Amino acid sequence: MFELMKNTALQELHFRCNGDLQAIIAIHSTALGPALGGCRFVEYEDSASAVKDAMRLATGMSYKAAMAGVSHGGGKSVIMKPKATKGFNRQQLFEMFGEFVNELGGRYITAMDSGTEVTDMDRIKKITPFVASSSDIGDPSPYTAQGVVQGIKAAVDSKLKKPIEELTIAIQGLGHVGFAMAKTLNDLGASLIVSDVDSEKTQKAVDELGAKAVSKEEILFQKCDILAPCGLGGVLTETVVSRLNCEIIAGCANNQLDTPQVGETLFKKNILYVPDYVINSGGLIFASCRYHQHPDSEAITKIDHLYETLTELFLRSSKERVPPKVLADQIAEEKLRNV
Ligand code: NAD
Repeated sequence: MFELMKNTALQELHFRCNGDLQAIIAIHSTALGPALGGCRFVEYEDSASAVKDAMRLATGMSYKAAMAGVSHGGGKSVIMKPKATKGFNRQQLFEMFGEFVNELGGRYITAMDSGTEVTDMDRIKKITPFVASSSDIGDPSPYTAQGVVQGIKAAVDSKLKKPIEELTIAIQGLGHVGFAMAKTLNDLGASLIVSDVDSEKTQKAVDELGAKAVSKEEILFQKCDILAPCGLGGVLTETVVSRLNCEIIAGCANNQLDTPQVGETLFKKNILYVPDYVINSGGLIFASCRYHQHPDSEAITKIDHLYETLTELFLRSSKERVPPKVLADQIAEEKLRNV
């Protein structure tokens, strides 16, 4: 375990076992400020997988905050969801988790993530102030979408130099972020191809945005300027990449690359991959601003600045012949070291 922590430079790992609560809080870094990151509430095979997930996600949050210019470190928590067959008291579970967070004295601030709801965050907030996505703070998704649109503009201006009205954009996943993005891109005049496993969401995009619908099996392979993965992570495997028909990949989903090697393959194929944790940082920027009670205008300015951050990254990437994701990792690591 310590070996693993050393390899990823992870600072702290905390465990809590109390009744039905089996929770882990991983703090990767507090170099830039208190660690901020969501709480996952999902079923895990075993506790080792839960620990690994918390560590991996906490590290990702440090990189995301460093690149977004947010004064936070990276942290993440995991609550191992009791098996579906076993009843449990959800409210009590999140209150106990709130106590766990509180005991860390603000070194870790929690937020929503897969499997948690805003009502869970409100429950935690009854116990501790260290929570950044309760109902009084609001939904970060539209801000994440705004950041992705800025990232798309930066990628298009760097690589394709085409007006947005001439672009075809394929969007996989029309959830909170995907649909908001689709709406903005449609307003800007882009043509959309969409798919969601939930057919009602796909139909809504067809009816309201005039999008073309395709099946979930076809969406990744559409001939388009931009592919935007906005569903789950791990969609870009070597097999998928060998069949892609796009110039740019720019979407909100976390951990889109199945392995780091896939990033290299995309670079060799001259497909511009916009690093996920940079392009999807709008929600973190917004949550941090609201948590610190700074005006929303500050969040909007920082989110718009993602255009410049990414433009510089693409320029350096083509000059130095290094994939943008590798370069982003190097820049984030430098920022974390040089505090
Ligand atoms: P969401 O659950 O609201 O939406 C995801 C959508 O993707 C759902 O509608 C789902 O049906 C669809 N989907 C899943 N698999 C699919 C597939 N194979 N084909 C087509 N559709 C599929 O989630 P969200 O909040 O919109 O977030 C989307 C992604 O962005 C996630 O990976 C999330 O971790 C990441 N992200 C979200 C935010 C945010 O502010 N919400 C911030 C940063 C990163």
